Amino acid sequence: MKTYAYGKQSISFGDIWEVVKVLRSPLLTQGPKVKEFEDALCAYTGAKYCVVVANGAAALHLAMLSLELYPGDQAITTPITFAATANSVLYAGGVVKFADVQTDTANIDPIEIVKNITDKTKVLVPVHFAGQSCDMQKIREIADKHNLFVVEDAAQAIGSEYNGHKVGSCKYSDLAIFSFHAVKTVTTGEGGSITTNNKNLYEKLLMLRTHGITRNVNYFTRDEGPWYCEQHVLGFNYRLTDFACALGISQLKRLEGFTKRRREIVEFYKNAFSDDERFGYLTEMPYSKACFHLFPLLINFKKIKSDKKEIFEKLKQKNIHVQVHHIPVYWHPYYQKLGFNHGDCPVAENYYRSAVSLPLYPGLMDADLRYIVDTVKQFC
Ligand SMILES: *Cc1c(COP(=O)(O)O)cnc(C)c1O
Repeated sequence: MKTYAYGKQSISFGDIWEVVKVLRSPLLTQGPKVKEFEDALCAYTGAKYCVVVANGAAALHLAMLSLELYPGDQAITTPITFAATANSVLYAGGVVKFADVQTDTANIDPIEIVKNITDKTKVLVPVHFAGQSCDMQKIREIADKHNLFVVEDAAQAIGSEYNGHKVGSCKYSDLAIFSFHAVKTVTTGEGGSITTNNKNLYEKLLMLRTHGITRNVNYFTRDEGPWYCEQHVLGFNYRLTDFACALGISQLKRLEGFTKRRREIVEFYKNAFSDDERFGYLTEMPYSKACFHLFPLLINFKKIKSDKKEIFEKLKQKNIHVQVHHIPVYWHPYYQKLGFNHGDCPVAENYYRSAVSLPLYPGLMDADLRYIVDTVKQFC
């Protein structure tokens, strides 16, 4: 019997062959595929510069470092995200604030952003939850008014559009990050990227990715010879291998197809669960054309016979492995110790209680979707 996870990679023979070719070449890391993948991401998103890194969390970390957060500087993000978003602010020595989300999108609410702005605020970190872009024009307006940077956490949103612009274009932001983790829409196993239109940030990111060391003579204090390089900042080894980049290039060519199928699946689920007071789902806004990463079904637990744990157990017995995205970040004990409390963001908490992510990946056939829908309805 088939088993269904909430997400699953799609690896073609073409993808495999591209990786094999690099494995048989002289350079496994730092070869030509790195720049080729970066150029492909620029061409796809429309951003001027791209730096690929080891994973999405590393991308967020370097994004924050490049903006030079100083101790006490504040960043505002959403609680409905993976912990890495908020962690990256802490890595860089900043302070995190959580702004509540909108009911219909579960994305950060611009009104709540404004409420959280202080004279210490330096960065806004909107997260395009489930693949749907936040209202970036509004967020940019707020940022400009208060002189703030904007970093888009687009880990879930490669392939998506905002008002006709590809997410990652940085039209309304300073930096945008993607994740290429196996469960994300485009995968390199582990991997991530940062796009920007700012040359200065781009050059900082390049240096930070390899220990803070540069081989660019323009930065040198002196030049001792062809072996010479200089470390200028405290960076990391956050490089991505050449064979991972080869997989990324090949996957990126398949992204339009992934987007089409993911949108079809979401349509299927929406039709199947509409007009039923037990169920709801997030709304796609007029400014958005999402390559959906997740389909969170919103279950009205007051109207059904089971609770969330029972539904998880019963679906598991039918080989359907659902998940919940996300536990409000500040509910984690680590964040509770920093002083956050249950009840801080009530809209996010209500969303969390009702949400169950159903399987969503391009390999699902209509027959699979029918089975999943029928089984979910049977247990609710
Ligand atoms: C997956 C994800 C990340 C982290 O990406 P990794 O590649 O797993 O490090 C960060 N933010 C969001 C919103 C994510 O979904």
